[in-house]
Amino acid sequence: MNKIEHIGIAVKDLTTSNELFSKLLNTSPYKNETVANEGVTTSFFKIGESKIELLEATHSESPIAKFIEKKGEGIHHIAYEVSDIYAEIQRLKAEGFIVLNEIPKKGADNKLVIFLHPKSTNGVLIELCQEMN
Ligand code: ZN
Repeated sequence: MNKIEHIGIAVKDLTTSNELFSKLLNTSPYKNETVANEGVTTSFFKIGESKIELLEATHSESPIAKFIEKKGEGIHHIAYEVSDIYAEIQRLKAEGFIVLNEIPKKGADNKLVIFLHPKSTNGVLIELCQEMN
């Protein structure tokens, strides 16, 4: 794995949180994007070589809506950048990690993504992402 690419934070209201994080980080989001198949609208802030991703649910059945219902707003996942997502899937499966989607899907910010079940990673949802060309 190359680096922590971003940290995902579940928020109730993206407009309010965009203002909050703009003040906190002293920069504006460089991208807002809805990922319809994930039921989320996201915004991204860049800090050095890492990013913060804010995630708001687009409907009540969205995984983000369910997360907030259970745990409230807060850190939702940590995303690691990888160079070969297919090789990483095989490696992590062999190590016993639970891969939630074995076929990478198109996530926000022009990335191929997979997720590891928090049950196999000390309670933290892990995203692996690889830049799409
Ligand atoms: Zn993410």
